[in-house]
Amino acid sequence: MSKRDYYEVLGVAKNASDDEIKKAYRKLAMKHHPDRNPDDKTAEEKFKEAKEAYEVLSDADKRAAYDQFGHEGLNPQGGPGGFGGFGGGAGGFDFSDIFEGIFGGAAGGGHGRSNVYRGADLRYNLEITLEEAARGTETKIRIPTLEECETCHGSGAKPGTQPTTCPTCQGHGQVRMQQGFFSIQQTCPRCHGSGKIIAEPCGTCHGQGRVKKHKTLSVRIPAGVDEGDRIRLAGEGEAGVNGGPPGDLYVQIHLKAHALFKRDGDDLHCEMPVSFATAALGGEVEIPTLDGHARLKVAPETQSGQVLRLRSKGIKGVRSNAPGDLYCHVVVETPVKLSSRQKELLREFESLSQQNNNPKAQSFMDRVKEFFGQ
Ligand SMILES: [Zn+2]
Ligand SMILES: [Zn+2]
Repeated sequence: MSKRDYYEVLGVAKNASDDEIKKAYRKLAMKHHPDRNPDDKTAEEKFKEAKEAYEVLSDADKRAAYDQFGHEGLNPQGGPGGFGGFGGGAGGFDFSDIFEGIFGGAAGGGHGRSNVYRGADLRYNLEITLEEAARGTETKIRIPTLEECETCHGSGAKPGTQPTTCPTCQGHGQVRMQQGFFSIQQTCPRCHGSGKIIAEPCGTCHGQGRVKKHKTLSVRIPAGVDEGDRIRLAGEGEAGVNGGPPGDLYVQIHLKAHALFKRDGDDLHCEMPVSFATAALGGEVEIPTLDGHARLKVAPETQSGQVLRLRSKGIKGVRSNAPGDLYCHVVVETPVKLSSRQKELLREFESLSQQNNNPKAQSFMDRVKEFFGQ
C-alpha cells in the first residue's frame, strides 16, 4: 500500500509553519483519537497516520529529509521525539491526560532533540476502607521511583568531569548515512542519540543520570471517592531524561470489602435479618449506618426480599450534591434451636392457621393443582 503524502494527511501546505502543522495535527488527533472512537478501525488508522505525519513534519531534520526524498528519505524506526516516556507505568489514561502528555511533553521536550524525554507516569494502587472513602482521609504512600542522581546532578558524568560532545554526530544524536542513491538519517550508533559521550561515568548511577529510590508522599483522599477513581499528583512520576519534565503519579483507589455494606455509586446496600415474629407483628429493628446506629420501623406483615430505604444515609460522592441512600434488604429468619415450649406454641399456632394467613403458599398450591389438571 502506498503511503499518503504527509502534508496531504495533515491538510497543510508544503510551506506550512510549525504552528500550522501543530494546529492541524491537534485537530485531527482530537477527532480520531481511539478514546473518542472506541472499536473504530478507520479512526484508529487515521489517528496513527496523522501522528506519523506530525512526528516527521514537526522535526526540522526529518522534515528536510522528507521534503528532499519523500518517504524513502526517512529512517523507518524514527525516534519517538517528545512523545517518549509516556505510558510507562500505567494503562487506561483519561483523554485529557493523554493530550497533556503529548502536548505538554512535546513542548517541554523540544523537537529536533530526540534525547530529551518526559519521565514515565506511574500508577500506585491504594486500598482504603469504605469509611475512609466516605469521609476522606490523608495517607502516606511509599513509591519506587527514578530520581535525578545527586552525585552528578543528572549528567551521568563523574563529578569534576563533563560529558563531551559526540565526535561522530557532532552532538546532533543523528547521522546521515549514504546508502546507494539515498542519504538516510539514523540515530548515532556511538552515543545512541544522546549527542554526548561520557568518558568517566558517575559511580553512583553508572552514567544513567538517574537512580532508583523510594520516596514517601502524603496523599489527600477527598471524601466520596469510589473504586477506580484516580488522584493525580503532578510531577511525582519518574524524573525526565536529560532535563525533560518529570511524569505524573496516579493514585488509583480500590475499596476493601466491607463486612456490612455493599456500595453502588452513592448508595449503600445491606442485608437486614428480621425475626419471624417481628416480621409478622411489626416492630423496630436496629440497623448500622456509616454514622452509627439507627432504628428502623418494620411494618406488620413484612416479607423477605422487601427493601427499606433510609434517605441520605449513603455516601456523598466526590461530584455529587447530596448523599445517596441506604437500602436495607429484609431477610425473614426462620427460628432455630427451639425449646420444647416454643415448639409447642408453634404447633398450636399452626393448628389455628387459616388459608389466608399464607396467601403465597395458597396460590402456589392452586397453581400446582392446575398443573396436574385437577
Ligand atoms: Zn550520577
Ligand atoms: Zn553521536
